[in-house]
Amino acid sequence: MDRLNWLEERRRSGNLRQLFPVKRMPDGTLQVEGDGGKAVFHDFSSNDYLALSLHKDLITASRKYLELYGTGAGAARLMSGDLTLYHDLERQVAELKRQEAALLFGSGYLANCGVIPALAGRQDVIFCDRLNHASIYDGCRLSRARLVRFHHNDLNHLEDLLRSKRGQGEALIVVESIYSMDGDRCPLKDLVLLKEKYGCLLMVDEAHATGLFGAHGGGVIEEDGVSSQVDIAMGTFGKALGSYGAYVAASRSMVDFLVNRARAFIYSTALPPAVIGASAAAIRIVQEHPELRQDLFAKVALFKSILKQGGLESLGPSQIIPVLVGESVATVKLAEQLRQRNIFATAVRPPTVPEGTARLRFSVTLHQSDIVLKETATALLEILGR
Ligand SMILES: *Cc1c(COP(=O)(O)O)cnc(C)c1O
Repeated sequence: MDRLNWLEERRRSGNLRQLFPVKRMPDGTLQVEGDGGKAVFHDFSSNDYLALSLHKDLITASRKYLELYGTGAGAARLMSGDLTLYHDLERQVAELKRQEAALLFGSGYLANCGVIPALAGRQDVIFCDRLNHASIYDGCRLSRARLVRFHHNDLNHLEDLLRSKRGQGEALIVVESIYSMDGDRCPLKDLVLLKEKYGCLLMVDEAHATGLFGAHGGGVIEEDGVSSQVDIAMGTFGKALGSYGAYVAASRSMVDFLVNRARAFIYSTALPPAVIGASAAAIRIVQEHPELRQDLFAKVALFKSILKQGGLESLGPSQIIPVLVGESVATVKLAEQLRQRNIFATAVRPPTVPEGTARLRFSVTLHQSDIVLKETATALLEILGR
Protein backbone atom coordinates (compact mmCIF):
# COMPACT_ATOMS: atom_id res chain seq x y z
CA MET A 1 0.00 0.00 0.00
CA ASP A 2 1.20 3.48 -0.81
CA ARG A 3 0.69 5.13 2.55
CA LEU A 4 1.01 8.72 1.36
CA ASN A 5 -1.60 8.20 -1.35
CA TRP A 6 -3.82 6.42 1.12
CA LEU A 7 -3.63 9.36 3.52
CA GLU A 8 -4.23 11.81 0.67
CA GLU A 9 -7.34 9.91 -0.38
CA ARG A 10 -8.60 9.95 3.19
CA ARG A 11 -8.04 13.70 3.29
CA ARG A 12 -9.84 14.26 -0.04
CA SER A 13 -12.89 12.35 1.12
CA GLY A 14 -13.01 14.28 4.39
CA ASN A 15 -12.29 11.14 6.39
CA LEU A 16 -8.75 11.79 7.64
CA ARG A 17 -8.42 11.19 11.36
CA GLN A 18 -6.29 13.78 13.12
CA LEU A 19 -5.28 14.37 16.70
CA PHE A 20 -6.23 17.61 18.38
CA PRO A 21 -4.28 18.34 21.59
CA VAL A 22 -6.26 20.12 24.29
CA LYS A 23 -5.92 20.98 27.96
CA ARG A 24 -8.80 19.93 30.17
CA MET A 25 -9.60 22.64 32.70
CA PRO A 26 -11.00 22.01 36.22
CA ASP A 27 -14.48 23.00 35.02
CA GLY A 28 -14.40 20.47 32.18
CA THR A 29 -13.87 22.96 29.36
CA LEU A 30 -11.09 22.43 26.83
CA GLN A 31 -8.33 24.96 26.35
CA VAL A 32 -6.36 25.20 23.14
CA GLU A 33 -3.33 27.38 22.62
CA GLY A 34 -3.02 28.63 19.06
CA ASP A 35 -1.54 31.56 17.14
CA GLY A 36 -4.31 33.87 18.25
CA GLY A 37 -3.78 33.09 21.95
CA LYS A 38 -5.92 30.78 24.05
CA ALA A 39 -9.35 29.53 23.09
CA VAL A 40 -11.81 27.76 25.38
CA PHE A 41 -14.29 25.15 24.15
CA HIS A 42 -17.34 23.55 25.69
CA ASP A 43 -16.77 19.84 25.32
CA PHE A 44 -19.65 17.99 23.64
CA SER A 45 -17.53 15.00 22.72
CA SER A 46 -16.56 13.50 26.05
CA ASN A 47 -18.20 10.47 27.64
CA ASP A 48 -17.58 11.82 31.13
CA TYR A 49 -21.35 12.09 31.42
CA LEU A 50 -21.56 12.58 35.19
CA ALA A 51 -18.41 14.72 35.36
CA LEU A 52 -16.91 12.14 37.71
CA SER A 53 -13.40 12.34 36.24
CA LEU A 54 -12.96 15.63 38.11
CA HIS A 55 -14.95 14.63 41.21
CA LYS A 56 -13.12 15.15 44.48
CA ASP A 57 -14.03 11.71 45.88
CA LEU A 58 -12.47 9.95 42.89
CA ILE A 59 -9.35 12.07 43.10
CA THR A 60 -9.01 11.49 46.85
CA ALA A 61 -9.54 7.73 46.53
CA SER A 62 -7.16 7.52 43.62
CA ARG A 63 -4.46 9.37 45.53
CA LYS A 64 -4.98 7.17 48.58
CA TYR A 65 -4.63 3.94 46.57
CA LEU A 66 -1.58 5.36 44.81
CA GLU A 67 0.14 6.09 48.09
CA LEU A 68 -0.87 2.82 49.74
CA TYR A 69 -0.24 0.42 46.87
CA GLY A 70 2.17 2.11 44.44
CA THR A 71 1.99 3.05 40.80
CA GLY A 72 1.72 -0.34 39.11
CA ALA A 73 0.40 -3.83 39.78
CA GLY A 74 3.75 -5.31 38.75
CA ALA A 75 2.27 -8.40 37.12
CA ALA A 76 -0.77 -10.02 35.58
CA ARG A 77 -3.44 -11.23 37.99
CA LEU A 78 -2.52 -14.89 37.47
CA MET A 79 1.11 -14.18 38.36
CA SER A 80 1.62 -12.17 41.56
CA GLY A 81 -0.56 -9.22 40.57
CA ASP A 82 -3.80 -10.45 42.11
CA LEU A 83 -4.12 -7.70 44.70
CA THR A 84 -7.11 -7.96 47.01
CA LEU A 85 -8.29 -4.53 45.90
CA TYR A 86 -9.34 -6.00 42.53
CA HIS A 87 -11.57 -8.50 44.30
CA ASP A 88 -13.14 -5.71 46.35
CA LEU A 89 -13.97 -3.78 43.18
CA GLU A 90 -15.28 -6.94 41.49
CA ARG A 91 -17.69 -7.45 44.39
CA GLN A 92 -18.90 -3.86 43.96
CA VAL A 93 -19.40 -4.39 40.22
CA ALA A 94 -21.29 -7.65 40.75
CA GLU A 95 -23.65 -5.88 43.14
CA LEU A 96 -24.13 -2.92 40.81
CA LYS A 97 -24.91 -5.20 37.86
CA ARG A 98 -26.94 -7.69 39.92
CA GLN A 99 -24.79 -10.62 38.90
CA GLU A 100 -23.01 -13.26 40.98
CA ALA A 101 -19.49 -12.22 40.09
CA ALA A 102 -17.38 -9.90 37.98
CA LEU A 103 -13.96 -9.76 36.34
CA LEU A 104 -11.87 -6.70 35.52
CA PHE A 105 -10.16 -6.05 32.20
CA GLY A 106 -7.61 -3.46 31.12
CA SER A 107 -10.16 -1.59 29.00
CA GLY A 108 -13.48 -2.07 27.26
CA TYR A 109 -11.63 -2.77 24.05
CA LEU A 110 -9.68 -5.53 25.74
CA ALA A 111 -12.76 -6.94 27.45
CA ASN A 112 -14.58 -7.39 24.14
CA CYS A 113 -11.49 -8.82 22.47
CA GLY A 114 -11.00 -11.18 25.41
CA VAL A 115 -14.49 -12.36 26.23
CA ILE A 116 -15.96 -13.03 22.78
CA PRO A 117 -13.24 -15.47 21.61
CA ALA A 118 -13.44 -17.21 25.00
CA LEU A 119 -17.13 -17.93 24.40
CA ALA A 120 -17.26 -18.77 20.70
CA GLY A 121 -14.91 -20.65 18.39
CA ARG A 122 -14.73 -22.12 14.89
CA GLN A 123 -17.78 -24.33 15.32
CA ASP A 124 -19.97 -21.57 16.72
CA VAL A 125 -21.94 -18.63 15.46
CA ILE A 126 -22.17 -15.03 16.68
CA PHE A 127 -25.22 -12.85 15.97
CA CYS A 128 -24.05 -9.26 16.00
CA ASP A 129 -26.04 -6.02 15.66
CA ARG A 130 -24.73 -4.16 12.60
CA LEU A 131 -23.98 -1.03 14.60
CA ASN A 132 -21.97 -2.74 17.33
CA HIS A 133 -18.72 -1.09 18.41
CA ALA A 134 -15.44 -1.87 16.62
CA SER A 135 -14.10 -3.69 19.69
CA ILE A 136 -17.00 -6.16 19.45
CA TYR A 137 -16.24 -6.79 15.79
CA ASP A 138 -12.57 -7.30 16.61
CA GLY A 139 -13.52 -9.82 19.30
CA CYS A 140 -15.72 -11.64 16.78
CA ARG A 141 -12.88 -11.77 14.26
CA LEU A 142 -10.46 -13.13 16.83
CA SER A 143 -12.94 -15.86 17.75
CA ARG A 144 -13.03 -17.29 14.20
CA ALA A 145 -16.70 -18.08 14.77
CA ARG A 146 -19.18 -17.57 11.94
CA LEU A 147 -20.30 -13.94 12.07
CA VAL A 148 -23.96 -13.18 11.29
CA ARG A 149 -24.94 -9.51 11.36
CA PHE A 150 -28.54 -8.42 11.84
CA HIS A 151 -30.13 -5.07 10.94
CA HIS A 152 -29.74 -2.57 13.73
CA ASN A 153 -32.22 -3.21 16.57
CA ASP A 154 -34.35 -5.36 14.22
CA LEU A 155 -35.43 -8.42 16.20
CA ASN A 156 -37.57 -9.78 13.35
CA HIS A 157 -34.49 -9.92 11.19
CA LEU A 158 -32.55 -11.49 14.05
CA GLU A 159 -35.19 -14.16 14.50
CA ASP A 160 -35.14 -15.00 10.77
CA LEU A 161 -31.39 -15.43 11.02
CA LEU A 162 -31.65 -17.48 14.22
CA ARG A 163 -34.05 -19.84 12.42
CA SER A 164 -31.82 -20.30 9.41
CA LYS A 165 -28.30 -20.00 10.86
CA ARG A 166 -28.41 -20.97 14.55
CA GLY A 167 -26.76 -24.37 13.92
CA GLN A 168 -25.88 -26.96 16.55
CA GLY A 169 -22.90 -25.30 18.20
CA GLU A 170 -22.77 -22.49 20.71
CA ALA A 171 -24.61 -19.34 19.63
CA LEU A 172 -23.83 -15.93 21.06
CA ILE A 173 -25.89 -12.76 20.57
CA VAL A 174 -23.99 -9.51 21.16
CA VAL A 175 -25.64 -6.09 21.45
CA GLU A 176 -25.11 -2.72 23.09
CA SER A 177 -27.81 -1.46 25.43
CA ILE A 178 -27.28 2.19 24.37
CA TYR A 179 -25.63 2.55 20.98
CA SER A 180 -22.52 4.67 21.07
CA MET A 181 -22.99 6.65 17.85
CA ASP A 182 -26.81 6.72 17.58
CA GLY A 183 -27.81 7.00 21.22
CA ASP A 184 -30.75 4.65 20.75
CA ARG A 185 -31.63 1.74 22.96
CA CYS A 186 -31.77 -2.00 22.41
CA PRO A 187 -35.18 -3.67 22.99
CA LEU A 188 -33.66 -5.90 25.67
CA LYS A 189 -36.89 -7.32 27.12
CA ASP A 190 -37.85 -8.79 23.75
CA LEU A 191 -34.31 -9.85 23.04
CA VAL A 192 -34.09 -12.02 26.15
CA LEU A 193 -37.20 -13.92 24.99
CA LEU A 194 -35.47 -14.66 21.69
CA LYS A 195 -32.22 -15.71 23.29
CA GLU A 196 -34.08 -18.18 25.51
CA LYS A 197 -36.22 -19.50 22.66
CA TYR A 198 -33.14 -20.26 20.56
CA GLY A 199 -30.82 -21.32 23.38
CA CYS A 200 -28.22 -18.61 22.90
CA LEU A 201 -25.84 -16.80 25.19
CA LEU A 202 -26.51 -13.07 25.44
CA MET A 203 -23.77 -10.48 25.92
CA VAL A 204 -24.73 -6.84 26.49
CA ASP A 205 -22.20 -4.00 26.19
CA GLU A 206 -23.29 -1.29 28.64
CA ALA A 207 -20.47 1.17 27.90
CA HIS A 208 -22.89 4.10 27.59
CA ALA A 209 -25.51 2.92 30.09
CA THR A 210 -23.80 1.96 33.34
CA GLY A 211 -24.11 4.71 35.93
CA LEU A 212 -26.87 6.41 33.91
CA PHE A 213 -29.80 4.01 33.67
CA GLY A 214 -31.48 1.90 36.35
CA ALA A 215 -32.53 2.97 39.83
CA HIS A 216 -29.03 2.26 41.19
CA GLY A 217 -27.09 3.07 38.04
CA GLY A 218 -26.84 -0.61 37.08
CA GLY A 219 -27.60 0.17 33.44
CA VAL A 220 -30.41 -0.69 31.07
CA ILE A 221 -30.31 -4.31 32.23
CA GLU A 222 -31.31 -3.08 35.69
CA GLU A 223 -33.93 -0.66 34.33
CA ASP A 224 -35.47 -3.38 32.13
CA GLY A 225 -35.26 -5.96 34.93
CA VAL A 226 -33.39 -8.48 32.77
CA SER A 227 -30.09 -8.79 34.65
CA SER A 228 -30.62 -12.46 35.43
CA GLN A 229 -31.25 -13.31 31.77
CA VAL A 230 -28.13 -11.56 30.51
CA ASP A 231 -25.23 -14.00 30.49
CA ILE A 232 -22.49 -11.40 30.20
CA ALA A 233 -22.91 -7.74 31.11
CA MET A 234 -19.87 -5.83 29.96
CA GLY A 235 -19.00 -2.21 30.55
CA THR A 236 -16.22 0.30 30.92
CA PHE A 237 -15.03 2.49 33.78
CA GLY A 238 -13.83 5.05 31.22
CA LYS A 239 -17.15 6.73 30.47
CA ALA A 240 -19.85 7.66 33.01
CA LEU A 241 -17.65 6.24 35.78
CA GLY A 242 -14.90 8.77 35.07
CA SER A 243 -11.98 6.36 35.49
CA TYR A 244 -10.36 3.69 33.30
CA GLY A 245 -10.56 -0.06 32.75
CA ALA A 246 -13.53 -2.34 32.23
CA TYR A 247 -15.46 -5.25 33.65
CA VAL A 248 -17.69 -8.13 32.80
CA ALA A 249 -20.36 -9.23 35.28
CA ALA A 250 -21.70 -12.76 35.02
CA SER A 251 -22.25 -15.98 36.93
CA ARG A 252 -19.45 -17.31 39.13
CA SER A 253 -18.83 -20.21 36.76
CA MET A 254 -18.66 -17.85 33.77
CA VAL A 255 -16.07 -15.72 35.57
CA ASP A 256 -14.06 -18.84 36.49
CA PHE A 257 -14.18 -19.84 32.84
CA LEU A 258 -13.01 -16.42 31.65
CA VAL A 259 -10.12 -16.43 34.13
CA ASN A 260 -8.95 -19.57 32.33
CA ARG A 261 -9.83 -18.62 28.78
CA ALA A 262 -9.85 -14.87 28.12
CA ARG A 263 -6.40 -14.12 26.75
CA ALA A 264 -6.77 -10.34 27.15
CA PHE A 265 -7.21 -11.03 30.87
CA ILE A 266 -4.57 -13.72 31.27
CA TYR A 267 -1.71 -12.13 29.35
CA SER A 268 -1.94 -8.51 30.46
CA THR A 269 -0.77 -6.62 33.54
CA ALA A 270 -3.47 -5.80 36.07
CA LEU A 271 -4.74 -2.20 36.22
CA PRO A 272 -2.82 0.37 38.31
CA PRO A 273 -4.12 0.65 41.91
CA ALA A 274 -4.85 4.39 41.60
CA VAL A 275 -7.28 3.61 38.77
CA ILE A 276 -9.05 1.06 40.96
CA GLY A 277 -9.44 3.62 43.76
CA ALA A 278 -11.19 6.00 41.37
CA SER A 279 -13.44 3.25 39.96
CA ALA A 280 -14.46 2.08 43.45
CA ALA A 281 -15.37 5.64 44.46
CA ALA A 282 -17.33 6.11 41.22
CA ILE A 283 -19.49 3.04 41.84
CA ARG A 284 -20.31 4.26 45.33
CA ILE A 285 -21.30 7.66 43.96
CA VAL A 286 -23.61 6.34 41.24
CA GLN A 287 -25.31 4.00 43.71
CA GLU A 288 -25.82 6.67 46.35
CA HIS A 289 -26.61 9.69 44.16
CA PRO A 290 -29.47 9.05 41.74
CA GLU A 291 -29.91 12.85 41.56
CA LEU A 292 -26.84 12.98 39.30
CA ARG A 293 -28.68 10.89 36.71
CA GLN A 294 -31.80 13.01 37.15
CA ASP A 295 -29.79 16.22 36.66
CA LEU A 296 -28.18 14.80 33.56
CA PHE A 297 -31.45 13.75 31.97
CA ALA A 298 -33.03 17.13 32.76
CA LYS A 299 -30.16 18.67 30.77
CA VAL A 300 -30.65 16.14 27.98
CA ALA A 301 -34.36 17.07 27.82
CA LEU A 302 -33.52 20.77 27.68
CA PHE A 303 -31.00 20.32 24.86
CA LYS A 304 -33.32 18.07 22.87
CA SER A 305 -36.32 20.36 23.30
CA ILE A 306 -34.47 23.23 21.61
CA LEU A 307 -33.22 21.03 18.78
CA LYS A 308 -36.76 19.79 18.31
CA GLN A 309 -38.01 23.33 17.76
CA GLY A 310 -35.71 23.38 14.73
CA GLY A 311 -37.02 20.04 13.53
CA LEU A 312 -34.08 17.96 14.76
CA GLU A 313 -35.60 14.91 16.42
CA SER A 314 -33.34 12.38 18.12
CA LEU A 315 -33.79 8.67 17.89
CA GLY A 316 -32.97 7.58 21.34
CA PRO A 317 -33.73 8.34 24.95
CA SER A 318 -30.12 8.86 25.86
CA GLN A 319 -27.46 11.47 26.51
CA ILE A 320 -25.95 10.76 23.07
CA ILE A 321 -27.45 13.02 20.41
CA PRO A 322 -26.33 12.53 16.83
CA VAL A 323 -26.97 15.22 14.25
CA LEU A 324 -26.86 13.47 10.92
CA VAL A 325 -25.21 15.34 8.07
CA GLY A 326 -24.37 12.61 5.55
CA GLU A 327 -21.27 13.72 3.68
CA SER A 328 -17.98 13.81 5.55
CA VAL A 329 -16.68 17.10 4.12
CA ALA A 330 -19.89 18.90 5.11
CA THR A 331 -19.74 17.35 8.57
CA VAL A 332 -16.18 18.53 9.14
CA LYS A 333 -17.20 22.00 8.00
CA LEU A 334 -20.08 22.09 10.45
CA ALA A 335 -17.75 21.01 13.27
CA GLU A 336 -15.41 23.88 12.33
CA GLN A 337 -18.24 26.40 12.31
CA LEU A 338 -19.20 25.29 15.80
CA ARG A 339 -15.61 25.51 16.93
CA GLN A 340 -15.58 29.15 15.91
CA ARG A 341 -18.32 29.56 18.49
CA ASN A 342 -16.32 27.70 21.13
CA ILE A 343 -18.29 24.48 20.82
CA PHE A 344 -16.36 21.26 20.48
CA ALA A 345 -18.31 18.41 18.85
CA THR A 346 -16.34 15.87 16.87
CA ALA A 347 -17.32 14.94 13.33
CA VAL A 348 -17.82 11.17 13.34
CA ARG A 349 -17.21 9.79 9.85
CA PRO A 350 -16.74 6.48 8.05
CA PRO A 351 -15.40 3.96 8.83
CA THR A 352 -16.51 4.64 12.42
CA VAL A 353 -20.09 4.97 11.09
CA PRO A 354 -21.54 3.60 7.82
CA GLU A 355 -20.80 5.40 4.54
CA GLY A 356 -23.12 8.37 3.94
CA THR A 357 -24.04 8.74 7.62
CA ALA A 358 -21.34 11.13 8.83
CA ARG A 359 -22.61 13.11 11.78
CA LEU A 360 -21.83 15.34 14.69
CA ARG A 361 -22.18 13.41 17.87
CA PHE A 362 -23.17 15.58 20.82
CA SER A 363 -22.98 14.15 24.27
CA VAL A 364 -24.57 15.97 27.16
CA THR A 365 -22.59 15.90 30.41
CA LEU A 366 -22.84 17.49 33.84
CA HIS A 367 -19.91 19.72 32.85
CA GLN A 368 -22.35 21.80 30.78
CA SER A 369 -24.47 24.51 32.35
CA ASP A 370 -28.05 24.99 31.16
CA ILE A 371 -26.99 28.28 29.58
CA VAL A 372 -24.25 26.60 27.57
CA LEU A 373 -26.70 23.90 26.47
CA LYS A 374 -29.21 26.49 25.29
CA GLU A 375 -26.57 28.54 23.49
CA THR A 376 -25.14 25.47 21.82
CA ALA A 377 -28.46 24.13 20.57
CA THR A 378 -29.41 27.59 19.32
CA ALA A 379 -26.05 28.08 17.57
CA LEU A 380 -26.39 24.72 15.88
CA LEU A 381 -29.86 25.54 14.55
CA GLU A 382 -28.64 28.93 13.37
CA ILE A 383 -25.73 27.44 11.42
CA LEU A 384 -28.01 24.83 9.89
CA GLY A 385 -30.45 27.61 8.92
CA ARG A 386 -33.35 26.09 10.85
C1 LIG B 1 -15.98 2.97 24.40
C2 LIG B 1 -16.58 1.65 24.10
C3 LIG B 1 -15.86 0.48 24.32
C4 LIG B 1 -14.42 0.48 24.72
O1 LIG B 1 -14.23 0.83 26.05
P1 LIG B 1 -12.83 1.45 26.51
O2 LIG B 1 -12.80 1.24 27.97
O3 LIG B 1 -12.82 2.87 26.08
O4 LIG B 1 -11.76 0.66 25.80
C5 LIG B 1 -16.51 -0.72 24.11
N1 LIG B 1 -17.79 -0.76 23.68
C6 LIG B 1 -18.50 0.36 23.44
C7 LIG B 1 -19.90 0.25 22.98
C8 LIG B 1 -17.91 1.60 23.63
O5 LIG B 1 -18.60 2.71 23.36
